[in-house]
Amino acid sequence: MGPADIGKWCGAVRVVVIGAGAAGLSAAYESRKRGVDFTVLEAADHAGGRIAAEEVEGCRIDTGAQVLTAGYRTVLGLCRELGVPVHACSRRAGIWRRGAFRVVDQNDGWRNLRTLLAFKLFSPKALWQLVRIGWSLRRQAADLRLADPSRALAHDTEASIADWIRKAGGTESLEGLAGTSIRVLTLGNPEDVGAAYGKALLWGYTFQPVELLTPERGMGQFTQALVAAVADRIRLSTKVERVVIRGGAEAGVQTAAGFVPADAVVCATTATEARRLLPNLPADIDRALAGVTYSSSCRAVFGVDRPVLPDQCYFVALPRREGSFLVDYSDASVKSPQVAPSGGLIHAEAAGSRAEFLSALPDGDLCRRFLAEIRRYSPEMPEPRFARAYRWKEAVCLMPSGVLAGRPRARRSLPEQIRGLALAGDYMHMPSVEGAAASGVAAVEDVLRAGPGAS
Ligand SMILES: Cc1cc2nc3c(=O)[nH]c(=O)nc-3n(C[C@H](O)[C@H](O)[C@H](O)COP(=O)(O)OP(=O)(O)OC[C@H]3O[C@@H](n4cnc5c(N)ncnc54)[C@H](O)[C@@H]3O)c2cc1C
Repeated sequence: MGPADIGKWCGAVRVVVIGAGAAGLSAAYESRKRGVDFTVLEAADHAGGRIAAEEVEGCRIDTGAQVLTAGYRTVLGLCRELGVPVHACSRRAGIWRRGAFRVVDQNDGWRNLRTLLAFKLFSPKALWQLVRIGWSLRRQAADLRLADPSRALAHDTEASIADWIRKAGGTESLEGLAGTSIRVLTLGNPEDVGAAYGKALLWGYTFQPVELLTPERGMGQFTQALVAAVADRIRLSTKVERVVIRGGAEAGVQTAAGFVPADAVVCATTATEARRLLPNLPADIDRALAGVTYSSSCRAVFGVDRPVLPDQCYFVALPRREGSFLVDYSDASVKSPQVAPSGGLIHAEAAGSRAEFLSALPDGDLCRRFLAEIRRYSPEMPEPRFARAYRWKEAVCLMPSGVLAGRPRARRSLPEQIRGLALAGDYMHMPSVEGAAASGVAAVEDVLRAGPGAS
């Protein structure tokens, strides 16, 4: 079916999009552009999912994702269309080593080797291993693009990025490299992150002087603009209980308030929730979804009256070997000063099993624990003007090895096996805001290509 055939369905198809995260909102916006009748059903009382933002005392707090890169084609295209200004974001970072933060500017790329040597961030043996890893990634670079997962498949060769680093470099470099950068980027452990995804992250964020970008007023500015473009079709606090399939085709969705008929459904939730909503998926697709895992994290955000991070850094990272529950903390006022207090807006992240423990605490206790931990590394951290806590049971998709390969199969065969049904979400791409947004656009194309379902 060609573009003309897709166009034929547009006016006649009612699409239900489940979930108003980056994937669902992009699917909704794509539907609007194509003249498709659509409704977005969102379980929460607000839209955005992991790109949601909250207004607190005149500031805007990004509760999940905060940064983009110059490679985020879909998201940057949406920003242009929606009139969201985007600017470069500092990559100045402090890494804790021997009782102090050692500052590197990631835009300096290989020139940082000198800094790494001077501060003994890596032993000479680990540094040599880093050079080997960098060289190996450079040779695979054309395939390791976060914006295009299809070519990375061939590089999903080891069980995890930790295994690949050991093989390509050696054990010494594992903690210094993945124990810091992979943890910051995924809020997960390198042992749990797929090899191809991990390599794309290492190459895209750590070894290359890639441009880090952000909407001028934070990620929430992008979310707000995207929500505004489809707001008349979003139904909040409407949890979908089940996707109803009749005779091998999509018929609609069941919510607590009743049945919503649809010709096509874009399920834009996490993989875990998609499996719950779709218990009768074809076995191969269900297997692919069952393999998807996520890191879990919690974040405390503090509005402060004076700067906390050293030397105009945007963020500071704590290597895993430090044993802190903190992965990193950043100052959002460095990138989006218009929506932050003058002193700073500190976002601190915890991940892993200790984040699960912290997540169970009431907000006040959680924020107090974070504050005490930040002061171990930044004793100048003042009493905050305000504090907020956010919890993510499923934070970043870790794309374990094998899952990436199941993705194109699921995308190709699902709309053919169940007409009118498509999956979207970061797990259907390279996990990121870009991956989620691109998967939402692709899902709308897929359901329109396959034609309406059974309702
Ligand atoms: C702390 C944190 C920091 C991050 N930092 C970055 C970053 O800097 N850059 C980056 O690119 N990525 C980052 N990410 C990852 C990025 O945010 C996600 O990959 C992306 O936003 C996922 O979007 P999504 O639409 O696939 O899923 P989600 O945002 O999870 O959206 C799913 C939506 O579906 C809704 N839903 C679920 N079940 C139902 C149901 N039954 N009925 C109706 N609605 C339902 C949910 O409420 C949610 O709104 C970060 C993530 C976290 C948590």
